[in-house]
Amino acid sequence: MRTSIATVCLSGTLEAKLRAAAAAGFDGVEIFEPDLVAAPQSPEQIRELAAQLGLSLDLYQPFRDFEGVPQADLENGLRRARAKFELMGRLGIDTMLLCSNVGTATLDDDDLVVEQLRRLGDLAADHGVRVAYEALAWGRYVSTYEHAWRLVRRADHPAIGTCIDSFHILSRGGDPRGIEDIRGDKIFVVQLADAPLLSMDVLSWSRHHRVFPGQGAWDLPAFLAHLMRADYLGPVSLEVFNDTFRQTDVERTALDAMRSLRWLEDRTAALLGANPAPVHLATLPRVEDPTGVDFVEIRGEHLEPVETLLRCLGFTYAGTHRTKDVRLWELDEARIIINETPTDSGRPAVAAIGFIVDDPQRSAARAQALGAPVVARRSQADEAVLQAVRAPDGTEVFFCSSSNAWIAEFAIKDGDPVAAGQTDAADTSVPEAGSRHRVDHVNLDQPWQRQEEGLLFLSAVLSLDPQPSLDVASPLGLVRSQVMRSHDGAVRLALNVAPPMVRRAGSGLGQVQHIAFSCPDLIAFARRARTRGLKFLGVSDNYYDDLSARFDLPADLLGTLRDLDLLYDRDDRGEFLHFYTATVGEVFLEVVQRIDGYDGYGAPNAPVRLAAQHAGRA
Ligand code: MG
Ligand code: MG
Repeated sequence: MRTSIATVCLSGTLEAKLRAAAAAGFDGVEIFEPDLVAAPQSPEQIRELAAQLGLSLDLYQPFRDFEGVPQADLENGLRRARAKFELMGRLGIDTMLLCSNVGTATLDDDDLVVEQLRRLGDLAADHGVRVAYEALAWGRYVSTYEHAWRLVRRADHPAIGTCIDSFHILSRGGDPRGIEDIRGDKIFVVQLADAPLLSMDVLSWSRHHRVFPGQGAWDLPAFLAHLMRADYLGPVSLEVFNDTFRQTDVERTALDAMRSLRWLEDRTAALLGANPAPVHLATLPRVEDPTGVDFVEIRGEHLEPVETLLRCLGFTYAGTHRTKDVRLWELDEARIIINETPTDSGRPAVAAIGFIVDDPQRSAARAQALGAPVVARRSQADEAVLQAVRAPDGTEVFFCSSSNAWIAEFAIKDGDPVAAGQTDAADTSVPEAGSRHRVDHVNLDQPWQRQEEGLLFLSAVLSLDPQPSLDVASPLGLVRSQVMRSHDGAVRLALNVAPPMVRRAGSGLGQVQHIAFSCPDLIAFARRARTRGLKFLGVSDNYYDDLSARFDLPADLLGTLRDLDLLYDRDDRGEFLHFYTATVGEVFLEVVQRIDGYDGYGAPNAPVRLAAQHAGRA
């Protein structure tokens, strides 16, 4: 599949956009007219630069407000078109995008439009170029792809074809199945964009909120499959107007865009199954959902307070690694690695997560095919080799087998000071079968500009599915939270984007991440932790008064919750009990108990937690 990207998707100068698109591996680009108009280079220089970079220039866009006009306006439109066709000759571009008329169309007259498209086609043919007619969702008289195709078919001109843009079809709730009725060789251009489901006017939605395929709510693999069944042979291009992408790192955005197309190509190939596509669709190594979290690594300086939290929660110190300066703490299947390697901030933070997968080599190969940067790992010849890549937020993602072979590399050495006092602190209670402690979920703070990139990364690389996003109120603004999970809930990551005031160090909230462990009996667990001196996050009395009003809880349970600083929630399946520890550096811990299939995260309690953290009531 030939890949292309509109320069409007990217930030920076036209030259920077071309270089980033080439570096990310795109085959071609669409030149967005304002990018060329503002560029210091001549059209010939741009053509030369693209050739040097190995990029084809696939499309010149957009040309507007041409058809459905009175004769005098038509002559002006043809004059404008002639100038653009000459420019395209200098650029070496053979296709121009014509958007359906939004402003100057005065006549709702298909016969007239057909006639005027033919006139444009004759002029294009004279210049050796062609025109792709696109129905804008907000076009004055032509606003559906079916209508645009009817007009193109009636114009019956070799230089006039149509453009299929997923945004203009799906934003109106259009049915894309009709694409299969279009002749593939008359689809001159395909532009893809995904979008979150928003309730707003379609023009603003289009201009500000488009995202790359796999980052929004639409089924782009099914959409592309319709194009393949229509025998479309041309490039598949991304046209994504997005306020964030237009102001952030151009190279990252180009890589994110390419990842979305590689993911889309693979998913479309899977949908088509045995029915061959008219072009070769590259596939990725296939992976199943991860089946659990093998470990979470906390990195930073001065990690003793984190280890104190772990000790108070009943974790057992399992020793240091035989060649690296890292320590392992375990509580059944929950494993925390403590790594005293300086980080950027120096403050303790979640640095790595190990996911248990079927075949770590295959998962790593898939991640690399999706352009995930590999994490260099120093290891000795006889050690378990763990494959890792870096997620967009900087977290290292390790692919682990279920054998946990690496655990054997940790041992307590003679005189290890961390091991002192171990026996009286460790949780010696024997867990019942099926009720072992494990990592329930991990919350990762996301840079605001990488939320979409992070979502696509986790769905494409790890096969996690996004859940609806949610805004949580904090005293300093709304925190946007989106959970990514495996189908059975064994792996759950919450991606949080905090507003700037919350992220500012010293706000009391900071840039925090947290690890939640599940346990079979939260009240007993909390009592033991309190006995060991755990610092709990304090919860306001008002919270318990409100809880009592919302849920008809027995008085003794309410009293216990209040005494122990425990939080409570209920959904239509079951109940949820949880508590938080004090924050250390950029990380805090949570312990949860899910009763009868409760499937949430205590979201109604998150504002209470954020307010308590803000107040420093830890
Ligand atoms: Mg378009
Ligand atoms: Mg999945």
